[in-house]
Amino acid sequence: MRTYLAACVLGLGLSAATGATAQCAGVYQFDVNEMEESVFKQVLITTQDEIERFFDFRFDAFCMDEEEYGAYYDIRKNTLVVGIEFFLDVANPPGNINRAIAVIAHEAAHAFQTKHGLLNMLVETNPHRVKCIELHADYLAGGYMGWRGRLYDIKLSNITEMFYTLGDGQTDNNGHHGLGAERFLAFRQGFQTVTDDEITLSSMGVAYVSQAKCD
Ligand SMILES: [Zn+2]
Repeated sequence: MRTYLAACVLGLGLSAATGATAQCAGVYQFDVNEMEESVFKQVLITTQDEIERFFDFRFDAFCMDEEEYGAYYDIRKNTLVVGIEFFLDVANPPGNINRAIAVIAHEAAHAFQTKHGLLNMLVETNPHRVKCIELHADYLAGGYMGWRGRLYDIKLSNITEMFYTLGDGQTDNNGHHGLGAERFLAFRQGFQTVTDDEITLSSMGVAYVSQAKCD
């Protein structure tokens, strides 16, 4: 079973885009646009719109998944997939909606990395780990949330706490995403980087993870 942020791009393989009709896959997924009107739906649609604007790209679909417990970017379909139960767990209790949005931003960062050919480059920084890619995504998510913080009231410590808990101690595992402190710091560093230019943000993020050596 996939867990928190583990269902990231590398877990899906870096296969080339097929050009197939983009849509939400499988019987357990449905497009956010097809949901009944609700505050929940509104938050998701607004978040998608803002994230696409910030990172300057578009998903072919934003899908909710009834079976998935986690979130991931589907590199083949160019879709963002978020498990409903996972999203609600992260967003609760009330006041934690920005945690859930930060998770979405992390996955959106993988779409950005894909668009700009950063996946190979970041892997080359350390050929044995996905950690550079993940910490860079944490940094980008932080940059987005910092930008978002100009429009909404966001409590940084509430989100960094989550990134800390999302860390894993499996440093010998190829799927290692980063220790709690490393994820906490990468996100916070991005959050404190004041820019609304995604390319500048990304370059600073690459410099950050390179300096952190990702190991
Ligand atoms: Zn990731």
